[in-house]
Parts: sequence; structure tokens; C-alpha cells
Amino acid sequence: MVRLTSEQHLRDALRRIDGKGYGAYKDLRGGYDFSRCVVFVDHVQGDPFAAPSLLRVRVAQKAAQFPRELFSNRPRRIALEDYLTRAFGAACRRRPRADRGSGKSGDIFTASCSQEVLERSSARVNSEYVELRFFLGLPAFGRRIAGRQAEEMFFRELPEIVSCSLVYSNLPAPEVLRHVETVEDATALRESLAERKLVAFVAEGSVLPRESGVSDLPLRGEVVTFETPGSLRVELEGPNCGRIAGMGVPEGVTLIVGGGYHGKSTLLNAISRGVYDHIPDDGREYVVARGDAVKIRAEDGRFIEKVDISPFIGNLPFGEDTRAFSTPNASGSTSQAANIMEALEAGAEALLLDEDTSATNFMIRDERMQALVAKEKEPITPLIDTIRALYDQRGVSSVLVMGGSGDYFDVADTVIMLDHYRPLDVTEQAKSVAQEHPTSRRVEFEGRFDDLRSRMPLARGVEARRGRRVKIKARGEDAISFGREQIDLSAVEQIVEQSQVRACGWIIHRAAERLFDGKRTLPEVLDLIEEELDEKGLEAMLPNLAGDFARPRRYELAAALNRLRTLEVVQGQRA
Ligand code: ADP
Ligand code: MG
Repeated sequence: MVRLTSEQHLRDALRRIDGKGYGAYKDLRGGYDFSRCVVFVDHVQGDPFAAPSLLRVRVAQKAAQFPRELFSNRPRRIALEDYLTRAFGAACRRRPRADRGSGKSGDIFTASCSQEVLERSSARVNSEYVELRFFLGLPAFGRRIAGRQAEEMFFRELPEIVSCSLVYSNLPAPEVLRHVETVEDATALRESLAERKLVAFVAEGSVLPRESGVSDLPLRGEVVTFETPGSLRVELEGPNCGRIAGMGVPEGVTLIVGGGYHGKSTLLNAISRGVYDHIPDDGREYVVARGDAVKIRAEDGRFIEKVDISPFIGNLPFGEDTRAFSTPNASGSTSQAANIMEALEAGAEALLLDEDTSATNFMIRDERMQALVAKEKEPITPLIDTIRALYDQRGVSSVLVMGGSGDYFDVADTVIMLDHYRPLDVTEQAKSVAQEHPTSRRVEFEGRFDDLRSRMPLARGVEARRGRRVKIKARGEDAISFGREQIDLSAVEQIVEQSQVRACGWIIHRAAERLFDGKRTLPEVLDLIEEELDEKGLEAMLPNLAGDFARPRRYELAAALNRLRTLEVVQGQRA
């Protein structure tokens, strides 16, 4: 427990250390009782150019007064915490900027949030208080403490930010409620998919396209809002939105076809983000996918540790064993095979693939190529021959963007065609085309997806320390710097925030110490991690002072671990 002292105590301390060397700020660590909130200084930065200090502010519900129903269940609480993080961040950005000194002096900010609503470490709401974690650049000119500037920040700016973001009566009540209800609805829609035998649902009127390749905001202007093809129309129900109509993507094998630039990838990407909830007005609030849907792509150059890729890849040159395939440098096709097998291992029940990001030789091998290159000389069994077995043997569905090969008509249950961004159900036409133009390619698959080898990770390959200190840093959304290693996540498309990247690194570190024993299989480890996070909260597996972290799914955790180039696993007989 942090000992609390008065705000006057803080004021006195700031006056006392004014003009001294920066190190004197260390004395501020502790908690201060302001009239309407408590401010904790948890970690003090080393100098004004370093990452800003980590603080917390706690407002008792007596003063904050958030109605109980805004956090009465898990999705609502997560949504409210997400909302408060955004409101606090917006208040920080709104305040007039004063020059408070060198480097990061004067900065106040909190977790930066994407269009997705995630379980975050930045805010806590319960019946006693609301608490927000934030970063504050303790001000200095050069290395001399600017005590007066700090006083302004603590006694004028911060109370203002807190008052307009963490006190219910100062927030726009309908907007808060909408945030919470939207998330609760999306969660309910997502949870109803499995029993309706759907992989995904896209509500009518959704806005799928994004502003640009680098902005996830909804496209404005000439947008074709989503229309439901009649035959795929379903209605789902949310507790607040009631019945809502849209397109249901059924289990099985679904193709998304259509001309180039007609919106195929946009639809698939929206579905792939549908594993998360979105903020109101995102356009994809009611685009939901099963929580176990995993986007798969080719990723040449990646590291692979003893993955059973034998259903896809057999007799490699030099007789490498594809039941325990390892490489520091995978090819396009072997990487895509490993990505699928690892997703299955982690528990994926739906795979999302786009021809744009797939290896051609992994997707298709046509009649003429079969005639020219004998099966014995081609290690790859293309997805076209395995995709049905994935569903028939393991119940794993696929949604596949495939504008380039009609051979897939033979294996599809549903074919959706995009025409000027409008989806049509062309399943029947595709079936009759397949009958009228039969292919004489031979089906090449004889393997099985139901007796895969298990993998048990070892702790010794997972070292987050550099010297004596644990060093884990996110490098944007695309990499983790983990001890001496760099984990490349640029091909892990369902990571949406840096905060998740950071959490992946820490959770792997914590799990390795306690759970990697060469006996527990990877899915068992993932189950234990999820259980602990569910029971004890996200913080249970994060560093002590976790400011900006968000919970990753088990698939992204597994993806990060699988890309750690020092990972070692013991392979077992059966999964
Ligand atoms: P495809 O994968 O079929 O080649 P994309 O999904 O990449 O096509 O979309 C092509 C372009 O059209 C993108 O710039 C995208 O933002 C835009 N777009 C997609 N869907 C819509 C829509 N419903 N309304 C307006 N523009 C869209
Ligand atoms: Mg495309």
C-alpha cells in the first residue's frame, strides 16, 4: 500500500526541489490526497528526455458517480474503461499547451486507442472508484527541476482533465451509454454466431472501407454501405439494439470472388477485425466474427520451430522431416502452411485468407502444372485440396478471397461475389459453372488434420533478460524487442495496437517462467494464461506498473511466441 499524504505536502515538496537536479523528483513517489481525487506517482522518469513518469489518478465513486449499470457486466465494464481512457486522452489534448521546459516536460497523455475497444490496463472501474493511469513529463529546464511548472500541471491542469473526463456529471451521458451498449451488443452478436452456425456477420448499412492504407478511420464521401444478399440474410439479436439484419457468413468453405478493386479485401479485413469490438461510428460496430477466427497469410523469412506441416508439405528436397519442420527462413508456402498449423494448434476454428497475401503455389496447382510437374516432385499440397478436409475432419471453416481461380468452386459451400462493393450470393451459378466446365485436375490430398503432433514449449528458449534486467519493448505494432531478440509481428494482422504487442511480450515472459516445462502443450499453456487473465485481470501477468497495455487474444500470443527465434519445443506424438 502506498502511504497517502496531503496535496499540500506535494506543493511543499515541489517548491523545495524547484531548481534542483532532476534526480530530486524521485522523492515524489507516493500518493497524494487531493480534495476530489488521489494522485499516485508510481514511477519517476530519469530525465526530462526519458519516457515520461507513470502516474495514476483515482476518483472515489462518491465523487465520480458512475451509474452502476454502466459497468454491471464484463463487456460493459471493459467498454466504460475504454471510454474513460479515450475521454481522459481527449481532455489531455484539449488543454492549452504551455511551454514547460525541455524534452517531454509538460506532456500529459494516456494510452492511445485504436478504433477497437480492448480490455486495457489504463483504466479501472469498480463500485468504489474509477482509476486512470497516465504519463506525465515532469518538467525541467535542462536538468534543473521546474517546480513552478510542475505545480501548474498538478494543481491546475490535472484537476481540470480529471474533472472533465472522470466525473460522470461532466461527461455526455448519452455518448457514454452508447459506447457501453454498442460493445455489449457486439459481444452478444459475436457470441450468437456459433449456435447459428455462422463464422461472421456483417450488419446491413455497415461502412467497411477505411480512409486509407494508413488510417483505420471510416472512409468518408462516396461510400457504398453494406447491402445484404437476400439468400444470406440473417437476423441476430443484441440486448440493446434488438434484432439486427445483415449477411451471415456460414460455416464451411466460403469464397469471396469478384473483379479487382470491387471490395473483396475490404470485406475480408472488416471480418478479420470483427473479432474485436469497435467504437460507435466506426462503421463496423456490428461486423462481428467468431473470436476464434484467425487471419492467415504468407510470411517468407519467418522462423519456424518443429511444426507439423505435413498435411501441406511433404517430401522436401534433402528429405527434411515435415512432421517436425524447423527453419530460420521459411519460404512463402512453408510459412503459410506453418501459420495455418500454428493457428489450428492454438484453437482456431475459422481461417481467413486473402489471395493478395498468399503464396500462389500454396493456394493452387492447376491441371497443366500437374501434368508437367509430377506430384512426386512437388512437396506442396495446395490449399484447394486441403481446405475441405480442414472442415470435414476438424470443423475448421475458411473464408477465402479468391478472384483468380475458379477451380475453388468445386470445394466451396458458399460463393459471395462483390460487384461494385455490393455482395451477391452466386453459389448456384458457381456450381453450375463448375459443372459446365469441369476441371480435370486431380485432387492431391491424402493426409489428415486430426492426428497432428503436439508441441511443449521449454522455458530455456525464452529469455527476456538482457544482463539482469527484463527488457521488453514494443516497436510499434510490428515488433517486440524481447531480451536480445526481435520478434517480427508485421505479418500478424490481427494485432491492432502497440498496447497488445507490449502485453504479448510480458505475458510470454511471465508464462515461460511458470508454465513452460516441456510437458504442458502449447494449447494447455494458452488455456492457463487465459484462465488467469479472466480470473485475476490483465494485470496478473503484466509488469508492476503497467500503463498502456491491452489484452491480446490467445492466437496473437501464440503467434508472438512462435516467431521468437530462440524458441525451443519438445514435440509429442499427438495433439
Ligand atoms: P479488391 O480486394 O476486390 O481488389 P479492395 O477491397 O482492395 O478491392 O477495394 C478497392 C478499393 O475500393 C479500396 O480503396 C477500398 O477502400 C475501396 N472500397 C472498398 N469497399 C468500398 C465501399 N463499400 N465503398 C466505397 N469504397 C470502397
Ligand atoms: Mg484485394
